[in-house]
Amino acid sequence: MDIRNSERLYERAKKLMPGGVNSPVRACKNVGCTPLFIDHAKGSRIYDADGNEFIDYVCSWGPNILGHADEDIISAVQTACGKGLTYGACHEGEVELAERIKRNIPSIELVRLVSSGTEAVMSAVRAARGFTGRDRIVKFEGCYHGHSDGLLVRGGSGLLTAGVPDSAGVPKAFTDLTLVARYNDAASVSALFESFGEEIAAVVVEPCAANMGVVPPVEGFLEALREITLRYGALLIFDEVITGFRLGLGGAQEKYGVTPDLTALGKIVGGGMPLAAYGGRTNIMECIAPVGSVYQAGTLSGNPVAVAAGNAQLKKLEEQPQIYSELDRKCAAIERAFRESGANVNREGSLLTVFFTDMAVTDYDSAKTCDIAAYAEHYRRLLSEGIYAAPSQFEAMFVSAVHSDEDIERTCEVIKQTAKKF
Ligand SMILES: *Cc1c(COP(=O)(O)O)cnc(C)c1O
Repeated sequence: MDIRNSERLYERAKKLMPGGVNSPVRACKNVGCTPLFIDHAKGSRIYDADGNEFIDYVCSWGPNILGHADEDIISAVQTACGKGLTYGACHEGEVELAERIKRNIPSIELVRLVSSGTEAVMSAVRAARGFTGRDRIVKFEGCYHGHSDGLLVRGGSGLLTAGVPDSAGVPKAFTDLTLVARYNDAASVSALFESFGEEIAAVVVEPCAANMGVVPPVEGFLEALREITLRYGALLIFDEVITGFRLGLGGAQEKYGVTPDLTALGKIVGGGMPLAAYGGRTNIMECIAPVGSVYQAGTLSGNPVAVAAGNAQLKKLEEQPQIYSELDRKCAAIERAFRESGANVNREGSLLTVFFTDMAVTDYDSAKTCDIAAYAEHYRRLLSEGIYAAPSQFEAMFVSAVHSDEDIERTCEVIKQTAKKF
């Protein structure tokens, strides 16, 4: 494969940006490749600066559930652009988007639009602290909630210890209030509540984890989180930045039948633009300024162009709910191809990860047993056959509504051909 243009661009980029990238995983360090610079993308395909074409299963890490450059979204964005890029003032589109969110996710009675998933979860945590008057939060090993200080903790020293920051530049004092539990282990949460119950503002969780690879919740796990938080007067925050509008119009909370107090959304809700949201019960969200005393604001929050993209995407998903069963069918075919090749796969709806370990992956410890070098080899084989997958073992494959049956068949063939090593 000729990637000379990407290589040249990467050399220029490295002199200008840390690692040549604007988000670390793009550097493809884990898989030992030069990052491909993208020229354009359309439908299920992505094209690099050397004209190579790939079937894309990254889909911008989740937003592009309708594929790239959906014509209705592009046209809505073009119309919005013609009316001005930003006003810093109220407009109809944001009301429409809030209505769409609330209609599909009824636990969101009031919503606030923000610009990134990081901001959404960070703000939801602040709201929970403001509402409960408590300071501690519980998160899970292997769950990612964006890069705000207090959530950048995986917990290096096991359970029942205060969080240890994952990142330099995060003072330990900023993560002292972050308690870390084990995903899919309700007992680890109970233990934290037994010690700190009256001090815990919220449990924040990815209802289906997708940032240590895809790890669905085991039966009863989310129900137990609901029960424990209610018992102690803490809030339950679902980080549905990936799962929202992905596992169905009502997200993970609808799929699993567990209702959180607050929800963070991102990725799909923005239709490919920088837009995210958080919301929940009226009495909690009324803590947010200007109604309440929890401050949160944004110059570009509810940006009219981003909102137009979000509205166009959600409108299409609402009008064509059969998209979800189609996504499920296509992703199941890919899952089958992996399984027939002897691979270890977790799948939930149109999210899938192949794990290079013999262990069932149910939490961070089992995810960590993966052979990263084997994944890297798998990644490079797929890439050389025209399949663009995530350059990391701990990410999901995303299927979109416009992956055709031919795309899926081709992908399954490549999986079977290249799978000697599973
Ligand atoms: C992507 C992601 C975030 C962060 O969203 P950004 O828009 O990248 O800030 C937060 N939580 C989850 C579950 C995510 O997958």
